[in-house]
Amino acid sequence: MTQSGKPRHKTRMAAGRKGANWRARTLAIRGGQSRTPFQETAEALFLTSGYAYDSAAQAAARFTGEDDGFQYTRFGNPTIAMFEDRMAALEGAPCARATASGMAAVSAALLAGLDAGDHVVAARAMFGSCRAVIAEILPRFGISHTLIDGSDLDAWRGAVTERTRMLFVETPANPTLDIVDIAAVAEIAERARAQLIVDNAFASPALQQPMKHGAHIVVHSSTKFIDGQGRCLGGVILCGKDFLEKRLQPYLRNTGPVMSPFNAWVHLKSLETLDLRMRAHCENAAKVADFLAAQKKVLRVRYPFREDHPGYALARRQMSGGGGVVGFDVAGGKDAAFRLMDALALIDISNNLGDAKSLITHPETTTHQRLKPDTRDELGIGPGLLRLSVGLEDAEDICEDLERGLAAV
Ligand SMILES: *Cc1c(COP(=O)(O)O)cnc(C)c1O
Repeated sequence: MTQSGKPRHKTRMAAGRKGANWRARTLAIRGGQSRTPFQETAEALFLTSGYAYDSAAQAAARFTGEDDGFQYTRFGNPTIAMFEDRMAALEGAPCARATASGMAAVSAALLAGLDAGDHVVAARAMFGSCRAVIAEILPRFGISHTLIDGSDLDAWRGAVTERTRMLFVETPANPTLDIVDIAAVAEIAERARAQLIVDNAFASPALQQPMKHGAHIVVHSSTKFIDGQGRCLGGVILCGKDFLEKRLQPYLRNTGPVMSPFNAWVHLKSLETLDLRMRAHCENAAKVADFLAAQKKVLRVRYPFREDHPGYALARRQMSGGGGVVGFDVAGGKDAAFRLMDALALIDISNNLGDAKSLITHPETTTHQRLKPDTRDELGIGPGLLRLSVGLEDAEDICEDLERGLAAV
């Protein structure tokens, strides 16, 4: 407490009892928590834009950095800081910053780190908007790119130039579930003195920690499995101290794509059950993938932890579970896919993913609709591909619903 009796909170409040050796499941519940003098057990929601100062001199000191309290929620907020610290603990990252959405995280990581004249190499299998940022927005600022097949390490090596400053990869990728070797690509980045960014939205830190494999920067859409119940948008950037101080912090402070304290509070509390939920998502997704693989009308199933997945061995090496998303190609193309979706009674048709509710989408006509047909062919996004985000309902009910859908094909 200050002399005026008001609680004082530092930019990074003393994190209470520090558990340097705590394991991931404990960190997900305890990591980053800082309590006010009321000693609340649950994390406090600081829904405030600003902070009052004890004196004019203190306000001045905050702005020079001599006093490290909060100034304004665009620069920092105690609830957002708790979420960031917990995410950093789970990813094994030195620093974390939360953003308004996953795309705010992806675009901020790229724009903060790149200058006009720089070059980016990215695996072409990725979320539609990530591709738009790299292939449409960055070129307007004089930043060029090369898109390659992420599983081909020679393609990575061949694409890197003297101007390459960043490598970008999504693994598992949306919606094809391609797996990229993080350690091998990180080594290529190191040799080029470039930084590897990994979009870890599909795995979440519960199943994969890219920094342990050498990634320099990790980005998340916390809208997905981290929220886990389809409520709030959010994003996270995890990085080293140098990148944060020199590039990211000035970019975020001045452009303002920050997360709302309310969304940070929701996602902070969500992290407490992330590990439990991801185990249940994986268990259900594995059952559903096996069920689909046994159906005559299903041509192909894509699930990283099934032996018929081309990235199976790699997925086993760098992930501790196959994730909650299953891709499958239904015989009969778009008509069959639409008929299947329209016959479902439990699974919702939605382009979101990572929800407790099972959600299905047809990437060709929704999330990847803007791509040219030959680009979709290249990526393996055919007219019969469906992306199923397997929820936490009873797996038998999900399979029965799919059975109903397949009967309509
Ligand atoms: C959803 C998603 C994003 C974008 O996140 P938003 O929170 O929707 O902005 C980025 N990357 C991947 C892999 C995603 O699935």
